[in-house]
Amino acid sequence: MLRAGIVGLPNVGKSTLFNALVANAKAEAANFPFCTIEPNVGVVSVPDDRLGKLAEISQSIKVVPTRMEFVDIAGLVAGASKGEGLGNQFLANIREVDAIVHVVRCFDDDDIIHVAGSVDPVRDVEVIDLELVLADLAQVEKRLERSRKQARGNKDLLEEVAILEKLVAALNEGIPARRVGLTAEEQELIKSLGLLTLKPIIYATNVTEDDLATGNDWVEQVKAIAAKDEAKVVVISAQVESELIELPEEERQDFLASLGVTEGGLKSLIRATYELLGLRTYLTTGPQETRAWTIISGMKAPQAAGVIHTDFERGFIRAETVAYEDLISCGSMQGAKEKGLVRSEGKEYVVQEGDVLLFRFNV
Ligand code: GDP
Repeated sequence: MLRAGIVGLPNVGKSTLFNALVANAKAEAANFPFCTIEPNVGVVSVPDDRLGKLAEISQSIKVVPTRMEFVDIAGLVAGASKGEGLGNQFLANIREVDAIVHVVRCFDDDDIIHVAGSVDPVRDVEVIDLELVLADLAQVEKRLERSRKQARGNKDLLEEVAILEKLVAALNEGIPARRVGLTAEEQELIKSLGLLTLKPIIYATNVTEDDLATGNDWVEQVKAIAAKDEAKVVVISAQVESELIELPEEERQDFLASLGVTEGGLKSLIRATYELLGLRTYLTTGPQETRAWTIISGMKAPQAAGVIHTDFERGFIRAETVAYEDLISCGSMQGAKEKGLVRSEGKEYVVQEGDVLLFRFNV
């Protein structure tokens, strides 16, 4: 399963956010078994409004959302790349994730110490970026040295050397690898380095409940930084999310309405991170259950079937396919068939977001 790592300075609200994510998943444990792999890894269900509507059409007994993983990565401090704090451990944990959720403190609270003494998201983002850049620089320099030696006997490595040199120059200027403008092929060549500053990133600005509806100046500052990477910014209130969990279900909407919002930001964050990871959803539906399944963008029908069961992939014949919107507008599978909106797709079909599929396969 692809993983997103929650990263940020200490006391910005990472654990509060992580706990809210996990508590939400636990609350839905009736629907699927909740598993804790490691204390800092949470399996979270991906909110999807389509499931309820499909389940209504099919009169499904069960609704099962798809899931993804979040990892709470212990607080980074200035100097981590030199081994300060949890330093190397922290960086190794980030190397293993597929995307980064960078939590930035955009709330003021005299009771909660800020590691650098004041709230300043621009400085905070720079501190984290610098540590990641320095860690990458050490990694790239080591590889460059090796590749240069090997390139003397193997000209094929010259291209790699050129990329590494380009990276060293940028990283030395404090520029993250994601802003170097490497082509897809170039990225592929240096993939094994697991560069931290090349991972897709999303910013979660943590605000107080009063700013949830409107945002604040600090959020705007983070947006300006994110724009450089064409990265998304999601406004959340970890505090609100943690309070919501404590409330009975029927009081939650009122509480949110009193803040002028419909959610505390957690749902949006999960969805945005899911998309950042390049994940797509297809749906299956029937009287037993309506369920969402995760695939990677570009997957073909047999591989998508394999997500359910390897037998489905091996014995794949065809996938009866209807777009979610078409099915909903027809009101029933029968109706969609009559209108010719249910297609029979073969092995080369690239599954689309929101496809409702029924697999035909040999056992
Ligand atoms: P971490 O070190 O980044 O994991 O931060 P924590 O999640 O432990 O949060 C540090 C402190 O900030 C805790 O006391 C939280 O209750 C508090 N906190 C987190 N989010 C908010 C928020 O949105 N507003 C306020 N006022 N406090 C928050």
